Amino acid sequence: MDWLKHLLWHGDKFLGVEWSVWKVVGWLGNAAFSSRFFVQWYATEKKKQVVIPVAFWWLSLVGSLILLAYALLHQPDSVFILAYAFAWIPYIRNLVIHYRHLKEQQKCSKCEAVSPRAANYCASCGTKLRAEGSVL
Ligand SMILES: [Zn+2]
Repeated sequence: MDWLKHLLWHGDKFLGVEWSVWKVVGWLGNAAFSSRFFVQWYATEKKKQVVIPVAFWWLSLVGSLILLAYALLHQPDSVFILAYAFAWIPYIRNLVIHYRHLKEQQKCSKCEAVSPRAANYCASCGTKLRAEGSVL
Protein backbone atom coordinates (compact mmCIF):
# COMPACT_ATOMS: atom_id res chain seq x y z
CA MET A 1 0.00 0.00 0.00
CA ASP A 2 3.02 2.25 0.30
CA TRP A 3 3.27 2.42 -3.48
CA LEU A 4 -0.33 3.70 -3.64
CA LYS A 5 0.31 6.35 -1.02
CA HIS A 6 3.45 7.38 -2.90
CA LEU A 7 1.48 7.50 -6.17
CA LEU A 8 -1.27 9.73 -4.73
CA TRP A 9 0.81 11.82 -2.31
CA HIS A 10 4.19 13.04 -3.46
CA GLY A 11 5.86 15.54 -1.18
CA ASP A 12 3.18 18.11 -0.32
CA LYS A 13 1.25 17.40 -3.49
CA PHE A 14 -1.79 15.19 -4.00
CA LEU A 15 -1.97 13.80 -7.56
CA GLY A 16 0.91 16.10 -8.43
CA VAL A 17 -1.11 19.21 -7.53
CA GLU A 18 -0.42 21.66 -4.73
CA TRP A 19 -3.97 22.10 -3.42
CA SER A 20 -5.57 25.26 -2.06
CA VAL A 21 -9.15 26.56 -1.84
CA TRP A 22 -8.69 28.37 -5.14
CA LYS A 23 -7.31 25.25 -6.76
CA VAL A 24 -10.47 23.38 -5.71
CA VAL A 25 -12.65 26.22 -7.06
CA GLY A 26 -10.75 26.19 -10.36
CA TRP A 27 -11.04 22.41 -10.72
CA LEU A 28 -14.75 22.49 -9.86
CA GLY A 29 -15.27 25.10 -12.58
CA ASN A 30 -13.25 23.01 -15.01
CA ALA A 31 -15.21 19.87 -14.09
CA ALA A 32 -18.59 21.57 -14.56
CA PHE A 33 -17.56 23.24 -17.81
CA SER A 34 -15.94 20.13 -19.29
CA SER A 35 -18.64 17.70 -18.20
CA ARG A 36 -21.16 19.49 -20.43
CA PHE A 37 -19.54 17.87 -23.47
CA PHE A 38 -20.08 14.39 -22.04
CA VAL A 39 -23.68 15.26 -21.12
CA GLN A 40 -24.31 16.47 -24.68
CA TRP A 41 -22.58 13.45 -26.19
CA TYR A 42 -24.60 11.06 -24.01
CA ALA A 43 -27.87 12.77 -25.00
CA THR A 44 -26.91 12.59 -28.66
CA GLU A 45 -25.98 8.90 -28.47
CA LYS A 46 -29.16 8.09 -26.57
CA LYS A 47 -31.40 9.83 -29.08
CA LYS A 48 -29.30 8.92 -32.13
CA GLN A 49 -29.45 12.50 -33.34
CA VAL A 50 -27.56 15.63 -32.35
CA VAL A 51 -29.26 17.24 -29.37
CA ILE A 52 -28.25 19.81 -26.78
CA PRO A 53 -29.93 18.99 -23.46
CA VAL A 54 -30.81 21.76 -21.01
CA ALA A 55 -28.15 20.38 -18.63
CA PHE A 56 -25.56 21.46 -21.22
CA TRP A 57 -26.59 25.11 -20.80
CA TRP A 58 -26.71 24.85 -16.98
CA LEU A 59 -23.24 23.25 -16.84
CA SER A 60 -21.94 25.88 -19.29
CA LEU A 61 -23.33 28.69 -17.14
CA VAL A 62 -22.18 27.32 -13.79
CA GLY A 63 -18.75 26.25 -15.08
CA SER A 64 -18.05 29.52 -16.87
CA LEU A 65 -19.14 31.64 -13.87
CA ILE A 66 -16.91 29.64 -11.51
CA LEU A 67 -14.00 29.95 -13.95
CA LEU A 68 -14.70 33.68 -14.36
CA ALA A 69 -14.58 34.10 -10.57
CA TYR A 70 -11.35 32.11 -10.50
CA ALA A 71 -9.89 34.27 -13.27
CA LEU A 72 -11.01 37.58 -11.73
CA LEU A 73 -10.15 36.84 -8.11
CA HIS A 74 -7.24 34.41 -8.28
CA GLN A 75 -5.54 34.42 -11.70
CA PRO A 76 -6.13 37.88 -13.18
CA ASP A 77 -5.16 37.39 -16.80
CA SER A 78 -6.89 39.24 -19.64
CA VAL A 79 -7.01 36.18 -21.91
CA PHE A 80 -8.52 34.01 -19.18
CA ILE A 81 -10.97 36.73 -18.05
CA LEU A 82 -12.19 37.57 -21.56
CA ALA A 83 -12.68 33.87 -22.36
CA TYR A 84 -15.45 33.74 -19.75
CA ALA A 85 -16.52 37.38 -19.31
CA PHE A 86 -19.37 37.26 -21.85
CA ALA A 87 -19.97 33.54 -22.31
CA TRP A 88 -22.87 33.60 -19.82
CA ILE A 89 -25.01 35.69 -22.22
CA PRO A 90 -25.86 32.93 -24.74
CA TYR A 91 -26.14 30.36 -21.93
CA ILE A 92 -28.75 32.41 -20.08
CA ARG A 93 -30.54 33.29 -23.33
CA ASN A 94 -30.81 29.59 -24.25
CA LEU A 95 -32.17 28.78 -20.79
CA VAL A 96 -34.76 31.59 -21.03
CA ILE A 97 -35.88 30.34 -24.46
CA HIS A 98 -36.04 26.75 -23.18
CA TYR A 99 -38.19 27.58 -20.14
CA ARG A 100 -40.45 29.89 -22.17
CA HIS A 101 -40.97 27.05 -24.63
CA LEU A 102 -41.81 24.61 -21.81
CA LYS A 103 -44.34 27.06 -20.44
CA GLU A 104 -46.10 27.09 -23.81
CA GLN A 105 -46.46 23.29 -23.88
CA GLN A 106 -48.66 20.75 -22.14
CA LYS A 107 -48.16 17.05 -21.69
CA CYS A 108 -50.87 14.46 -22.33
CA SER A 109 -51.71 12.58 -19.12
CA LYS A 110 -52.40 9.38 -21.07
CA CYS A 111 -49.53 9.07 -23.57
CA GLU A 112 -47.22 11.90 -22.38
CA ALA A 113 -47.01 13.41 -25.87
CA VAL A 114 -46.27 17.14 -25.86
CA SER A 115 -48.78 19.52 -27.43
CA PRO A 116 -49.05 23.29 -27.74
CA ARG A 117 -50.64 25.01 -24.75
CA ALA A 118 -53.66 26.07 -26.83
CA ALA A 119 -54.50 22.51 -27.99
CA ASN A 120 -57.70 20.96 -26.58
CA TYR A 121 -56.92 17.38 -27.60
CA CYS A 122 -53.75 15.32 -27.78
CA ALA A 123 -52.59 15.00 -31.39
CA SER A 124 -51.10 11.61 -30.60
CA CYS A 125 -53.93 9.74 -28.81
CA GLY A 126 -56.94 12.11 -28.93
CA THR A 127 -57.29 12.47 -25.16
CA LYS A 128 -58.87 15.76 -24.02
CA LEU A 129 -56.13 17.97 -22.62
CA ARG A 130 -56.46 20.23 -19.61
CA ALA A 131 -55.15 23.60 -20.66
CA GLU A 132 -54.39 24.76 -17.13
CA GLY A 133 -52.23 22.99 -14.60
CA SER A 134 -50.68 20.45 -16.95
CA VAL A 135 -47.48 22.24 -17.72
CA LEU A 136 -44.51 19.91 -18.25
ZN1 LIG B 1 -51.98 11.57 -25.72
